[in-house]
Amino acid sequence: MGAFNSRMIPSSRVSVAVNLSIVRGNAQRIAEQTRSPILAVVKSDAYGLGTQGVSRALADLVDGFCVFSLREAQTADLWRTAGKPILSIGPQEDFSAGEFIEAHVRPAVWTAEQARRFARAEPVLSVDTGMQRFTAGKAETDAMMREARFTEAFTHAVKMEQAVELAEMFGGKGMKLHAAGSALLNEPRARLDAVRPGIALYRGAVRVATRLLEARDSNRSAGYSGFVTPRLGVIPCGYSSGLRKGLCVINGIRQAILEVGMQSAYVEAGESDRAGDEVILLGDGLTEAEVAGAWMTSEHQALLCLTGMGIRRQIT
Ligand SMILES: *Cc1c(COP(=O)(O)O)cnc(C)c1O
Repeated sequence: MGAFNSRMIPSSRVSVAVNLSIVRGNAQRIAEQTRSPILAVVKSDAYGLGTQGVSRALADLVDGFCVFSLREAQTADLWRTAGKPILSIGPQEDFSAGEFIEAHVRPAVWTAEQARRFARAEPVLSVDTGMQRFTAGKAETDAMMREARFTEAFTHAVKMEQAVELAEMFGGKGMKLHAAGSALLNEPRARLDAVRPGIALYRGAVRVATRLLEARDSNRSAGYSGFVTPRLGVIPCGYSSGLRKGLCVINGIRQAILEVGMQSAYVEAGESDRAGDEVILLGDGLTEAEVAGAWMTSEHQALLCLTGMGIRRQIT
C-alpha cells in the first residue's frame, strides 16, 4: 500500500458534492444524543468540506467552533460568518494577542510563557491527559494559573478515563471543561460541559462521483498489473487526485477499483454498465469507514483525501 500523494491535483471530471443539510442533521442528532453544547471542529477546511459553508450551516446549532490555527479562522472569516466563539487548538505561531482578539479567536495555551503572552486574549488551557503534544502537565498548569485567569480548559481525549481525569483536575473551579471528540460521544461521563466532534459532523455528507470513460468486455489480462476481469471500466481519476485501490458503486452495485494509474483507474464493471455511467467513490451507501478500511487508514484521512479529488460544490 503506497503512501498518499503529497501534492494532489483535483480532477475536473470528479464532482465532490457537500450536502450541508446532512451536516446539520448530524449536529442535531449529536445534540439530541449528548444533550451537550457542541463545539464544531472545522480545522483543515472542515475536513475538506469547506469551513465557510459548514460554519454558516451550523451557526444556529452549535455553541462554538474549533480551528487548528488563527489563520484558518481568518481565511474563512469565521467570526463574521458564524458569530460564535472560536477556539484555536494548535500552536499560536507568530500571532499576537491583539490578532487573536481582533478575529474573536481564543488561543489554546500550554506553557506559562504562552499564558502570559496571551493573557488578554482569554486563553484556554490545554491539559495533558496522555496526548503529550500541545498540552500542559500538572506542574505547568500550576505555573500558568499564575499568569492568566482561565475560564475554560480542555483535553484531547480518546478514552473516557482522560475526560474523567480532566474533570478531577479542574472540576468545581467554575471553569468550562470539554474533552470528547467523535469517538467519545457515546460516553456520558466524557461529555462534561461541551463536546467537540469533527468527523461525526461530516459522515454521510459528501458524495464523490465521476463517470465511466470506457467500458468493455474483457477476456484477457489488462492494465499494468495484468488483472483479469470479465468487464472493465475506466474512470478519469488516478493517483494524482489521491485515488487508491478500493471500492466504488456503479448503477447501485459495489465494484472494485482494480488498478490505479496516474490520471485514470480501472474498475470492475457490471454487464450492462456503459461509458457515461456514474461511478460513486464516496456516498450512495459507500461510507468513509469502508473507504478508510480499504485504504488501511483513518476515516479522517480518507475523507480529507476524497473531498480533495475533484471540484467541490456545497448544496443545502
Ligand atoms: C480534531 C480534534 C477533534 C475532533 O476529532 P474527531 O475525531 O474528528 O471528532 C477534537 N478535539 C481536538 C483537540 C482535535 O484536534
